[in-house]
Parts: sequence; C-alpha cells; structure tokens
Amino acid sequence: MQLLAVNLITYTILKVKRAAMAPPSGDSNVVVSSKKLERLLSMKGGKDEASYANNSQAQAKHARSMLHLLKETLDGVELNMPETPFVVADLGCSSGNNTIFIVNVIIEHITKRYDTSGYADVPEFSAFFADLPSNDFNTLFQLLPPLAHDGLGSMEECLASTGHRSFFAAGVPGSFYRRLFPARSVDVFYSAFSLHWLSQVPDMVLDKSSMAYNKGKIFIHGANKITANAYKKQFQTDLAGFLKMRSKEMKKGGSMFIALLGRTSEDPTDQGGAGLLFGTHFQDAWDDLVQEGLITSEKRDDFNIPVYAPSLQDFKEMVEANGSFSIKKLEVFRGGSPLVVNRPDDATEVGRALANSCRSVSGVLVDAHIGDKLGNELFLRVANRATYKAEEMLEKLQFFHIVASLSLK
Ligand code: SAH
Repeated sequence: MQLLAVNLITYTILKVKRAAMAPPSGDSNVVVSSKKLERLLSMKGGKDEASYANNSQAQAKHARSMLHLLKETLDGVELNMPETPFVVADLGCSSGNNTIFIVNVIIEHITKRYDTSGYADVPEFSAFFADLPSNDFNTLFQLLPPLAHDGLGSMEECLASTGHRSFFAAGVPGSFYRRLFPARSVDVFYSAFSLHWLSQVPDMVLDKSSMAYNKGKIFIHGANKITANAYKKQFQTDLAGFLKMRSKEMKKGGSMFIALLGRTSEDPTDQGGAGLLFGTHFQDAWDDLVQEGLITSEKRDDFNIPVYAPSLQDFKEMVEANGSFSIKKLEVFRGGSPLVVNRPDDATEVGRALANSCRSVSGVLVDAHIGDKLGNELFLRVANRATYKAEEMLEKLQFFHIVASLSLK
C-alpha cells in the first residue's frame, strides 16, 4: 500500500516536472506509465489510410505463406467426439480480415479431418477472437459474415454457403500474458505477429539513473547491450507467462501455432527487420522533432517501442524451461517485406507505405505520448525520410519470423 502511494507520488512529480520542462510548442504532455501499456496498446483501429485493417496485407501474405505449417499443426490435434464443440482461439487477432481468414482456414481443415476420420458428424465450432481491451473489436465484428442458417445445421452446408460463417464467434478482451480461458477448454491456439509485443517497457529502461536507460533511442536496435538485455529479460518473463497460461487452458491433445517477429542475429541489439522499421527513419524522425524544438530530448528518450524480436534460441529456451509442451516444429521463416506497394518505382508511395505501416502498429502509442498533432508531424517526417531512401528500403526491409508448432505433453 505504502509502495503504491510512493509510486503515485513519484508518478505525479514526474508528470509535473515534465510539464514544466516541455517546450511551449504544443507538446501535449500525455505521460503514459509503462504499466498502463496493456490498457493502451492496440493497432490503429477503423478503416482509414493508416489503420491496421488497411495496412496488414503484408501480414496476410506472410500468414498465407505459412499455411502448410499451420495445417501440419492442425493435423496433430486430437479430434474429440463431435458432441463437444471444437474451440479455436486467435490470440492477438487485431481488427481486419486477417483473423477471419485464418479462423476459416482452421475450421475448414479440421472439418475435412473429421470427414475423413470416420466420424459420423462434425462438431460445432467456437472461435474466440482475443486481443487487448483497446483493440477495435467493433470493426472486427462488423466484418464477420452472418452465421449460416439459424444455427449451424450440417457443417458441409455451412462451408458450402459462401458469405456465411460456420462458427460461433466471441471476443475476448485481455492480455495473453494472463489467463483468458477456462482450464482445458481450447483445442487450437493460433497467434500470429503478436508475441513480439512486450507487456511493458522494462522499468529500468525508463529509469534515468539506470544503466539501461535508453538515452537517445526509441528502440533497442543499435542501443547499448544493457538496454537490450533488459528487453530480453522482459521477453523471457512475458513468454514464460504466456506458455504457463496456455498450458492450463489447452485441452489435452490440443495444439498451438505461433508466428512472431524474429531475428537471425544472436545479438539482441541487431533486431533485423524490426530494427529497420523502428530503428532507422522512425528514430531519425524523433530526432528531427527534438532538433526542431518540437519536443525535448527527454520526451523522446521516454518513448520506447515495446517490441522484442527474439532469436530462435531465445524462444526455444523458454519453451524448454516451461516444460509442458513438445516442440513439433520450430524454425526461422523468411517473411519478406512489410511494405506492400503498387508502384515500387514511385519513391513517394514507398515512403508513405513505410510511414503508414509504422503508424498502423505504433501510432496509438505515439499519439498517447506526444499527442496526435505531433504524431502527424512525426510520421510526415518518417514518410519524407523514407522517400529519399525508397530503393534502399525496398531492398533491405525484410522480416524474419519464428514459427512454432507446440502440443501439450
Ligand atoms: N494476428 C493479426 C494481428 C497482429 S497485430 C494478424 O495476423 O494480422 C498484433 C496484435 O497483438 C495487436 O492487435 C495487439 O493489440 C495484440 N497484442 C499485443 N500485445 C498483446 C497482449 N499482451 N495480449 C493480447 N494481445 C496483444
């Protein structure tokens, strides 16, 4: 209790101090404690130019290129008697069509397996769309086609009737680093491009008196080793929590398919594709705001992207330490570029695509930190800078993903 009071006081003092130090030019001084991240983080909702729904074609493409691996995972799931519903959960579903597409793929594949396994019937399906509470569930729910018939009727009929869905749908608000489902209730967990988001920026990284304070930087790419190690520790704690919760929630015989940003280097200060996305033009644009006197350098240094792209080894160690899952597959998968452009030789389009791609995933955090006016200024600078380096961006920006197929021991 006393600790909480002290924290609150520190927090208030910090807030006042920052307000006093801020330049007069419209710095909104919204201070976000790292602890609040889980209540704040989301991809950009809605359907406008910089929304996630409009900037996730690359994720869609990457997910499609992994479908054979997903299907292998699904082949390992034990089929229950068709009287009990078959339960699928997408963790970090965001808003947009990607999650609906994947849930359909999963259900179609499992339906085929029931058909060919000699069961007289196919079970009803439940799909849970899980994400943090600030996710734009409204947009997602509006994209869901209506349920086929009144109920589900025969599954073959449902699958045949295009424009309808063959599963009961529900949204689950909460952090996947904590419990989300009742024990032994989920057959298939799917999570794509989400687990590299940490539950918080490590406290040390925000503490000016700590060696891990990320001075001059907004990400760990090219940062000092102590800062990067603090991120690595946070990733390990978070992934340990994730695995522990899922091991309770998964049905015996269930499976989990995970894809997340990864890196090929052993060195966590080299964050690969994530490093290029957040550590080059985005970083320089923050520096621009400081140099132009729009924000203080302290304001920049207090902002950190809570993303960690692990190496295969980082990931494997945590699964092994947890001990509840057997690893059916674990590999680094070349994903390709996050930039989807119609005219690659149009530098302005490439620049804008990079800024939108960056804004769709980090814009909510940026706006909370400096307000949306300065957010606009920031991403304008990202676009301009990336326009000048369009060719280089197209050539170098490559994502690698860690893909894991796990089943309960
Ligand atoms: N799976 C989707 C979306 C990936 S975007 C796709 O393939 O396109 C990453 C998502 O992870 C975001 O919607 C973000 O809100 C969510 N996320 C990040 N941290 C989370 C957490 N701790 N708990 C639940 N969801 C989280």
